[in-house]
Amino acid sequence: MVLQDVTRATIKYKRYGGRYGGIDPGTGIEDDMHENISVSNSGDNVPVSVKYDMGWQKRGSGRKYNSKSGVGSMIGHLTGKLIDLDLRSTDCRICSYWEGKGKEQPKHNCTRNWYGTSKAMEPDVGLSLVQNIEEKGCTVANVIMDDDTTTIARIRSQIDHEVDKWSDMGHTRVQLGNKLYKIKEKYKKDFTADDIAHLQKCFMYAIQSHKNDPKSIAENISAIIPHSFNCHNQCNESWCKYLQNPDKYRPTIKLNNPNLKVELESVFMKYVEEKNVNKLAPCGSTKDNESFNNMVAHKAPKNKHFCASESLESRVMCAAAQKNLNFDYITQINEECGLSPGKHTTKTSKKLTRKRKLQNTLKGTTEFKRKKILKLNVQRQKQVVGEVREGVTYQTAVDILPTSAADITMISAPITIPILNSINVDDGAYARVFFDLETSSLAMDCDILQISAIYNDNLFNQYVTPTKSINKYASEVTGLTVSHNFLCYNGHRVDSCLPQQALQNFIFWLHNIPSHKLILFGHNCRRFDMPRLVNTLQQYHLAASFSEKVSGFTDTLPLFRAKFPDLKSHKQEQLAHTILKSTYMCP
Ligand SMILES: [Zn+2]
Ligand SMILES: [Zn+2]
Repeated sequence: MVLQDVTRATIKYKRYGGRYGGIDPGTGIEDDMHENISVSNSGDNVPVSVKYDMGWQKRGSGRKYNSKSGVGSMIGHLTGKLIDLDLRSTDCRICSYWEGKGKEQPKHNCTRNWYGTSKAMEPDVGLSLVQNIEEKGCTVANVIMDDDTTTIARIRSQIDHEVDKWSDMGHTRVQLGNKLYKIKEKYKKDFTADDIAHLQKCFMYAIQSHKNDPKSIAENISAIIPHSFNCHNQCNESWCKYLQNPDKYRPTIKLNNPNLKVELESVFMKYVEEKNVNKLAPCGSTKDNESFNNMVAHKAPKNKHFCASESLESRVMCAAAQKNLNFDYITQINEECGLSPGKHTTKTSKKLTRKRKLQNTLKGTTEFKRKKILKLNVQRQKQVVGEVREGVTYQTAVDILPTSAADITMISAPITIPILNSINVDDGAYARVFFDLETSSLAMDCDILQISAIYNDNLFNQYVTPTKSINKYASEVTGLTVSHNFLCYNGHRVDSCLPQQALQNFIFWLHNIPSHKLILFGHNCRRFDMPRLVNTLQQYHLAASFSEKVSGFTDTLPLFRAKFPDLKSHKQEQLAHTILKSTYMCP
């Protein structure tokens, strides 16, 4: 906050000298032109491709469209740098004040520059930005933007050469999804939400793996639907698992309704048409604009009203400078104003820049993306089971609807306090199962990494994908590590599954034991294994089905202590060594 305040003051100070303290957001265009020259090698008038989007300074204005101000930004497709921006505001504090008094306002720096509706801001700003760029001796050949506005029509009507519109990948994906969901209404049984997600994924993959190659994109898109219906004539060996190895091929989704195939093909073939595939091929995305809008929202929070004064402009310009120059912009502004930048300012801005760079490189890695998907899956599973248990808690106007007692009471969690009863295990009523857990740490909320159990000769072993990092010391003891998001035992990848699935597998295995009831035996399980297992079972709401079969736990540690009082250590490893004369090993 301090950094921002200082900068705002400096910008204000410098404002009357140069444009926004000498930082001209238009610097992006030179870079973009330069890059385009090296690409096309043409003369002076260089065609550029730009992305355009508008952000509003009001929450939820995406649907309501009554924000009092909007900031339109134009970003170069090649450099990702801000070329130009403009803002429209319908409010001015000084004008409002004098209007309230019914008098004519004195001369002032008026911020009101828009008298129409908020909806019309976007096309207007878009057109003026394109005109600005054209004035600088540049040709805007392509514009990437969403399909929600009439901006492109306005631009085409005012600019005397052809301007192409490229599709935004994010929007294209959503639109495809909407079309598929419409088809799903007709074929509820044959076409699931998972199928739609998979088709969307394939579609995006087909485009992104052949960037700027419309012919290959068209070929691959037209192969998606036949491939899903197990017909691989048009498939390419680079991605079709069937062509790579027909014996091992297992389809991700299974579709077989012929009517469905016709409808799906009609949707996908639309994208294969030359006109449309050319729009998709450059993989245009307005993500950069969204990131800029976020920067603006950070500096001009949406729940505050800034557009009635010059405050908004200063804030937007700060965001623009940050977008193009990183956090160094504060130092640069200070220098331009003839102020020596503070030691801490320089240090902090460098630190922030470095941090951002690091985050950006991290976010691009496959590993990070995989981790994100895993986290989402775990979250979703927890959410689904949680919602079932809690009932309806949040829904539009839920409080007006008649409520029954069942709606407000939560299905209670099973009792968790351990009851220490003695039971006779020798009478044969209880099956004895020995179990052990490996965990990611010693903490109470640790992840279970491995569940193993044995009943007579029947062995159960299940590795669990961790959702948190594994403690270094835990890794040393268990030999379990995570590498490239896969769980490894002694450096070799093992098959693991999500916690919920693993626990279900364990419960399923327990239920298959012929005895009516069973007891779980574990070493030091009273203090360690049992609380952690029960904790995790409750997290996934599986405790009820677990306790259906399992009557209780027995800890073998006190038993060994009583039987072998002379031993120094009663750890499992030590016991195995002295009593069984064998080395202890995790399976
Ligand atoms: Zn005014
Ligand atoms: Zn295929």
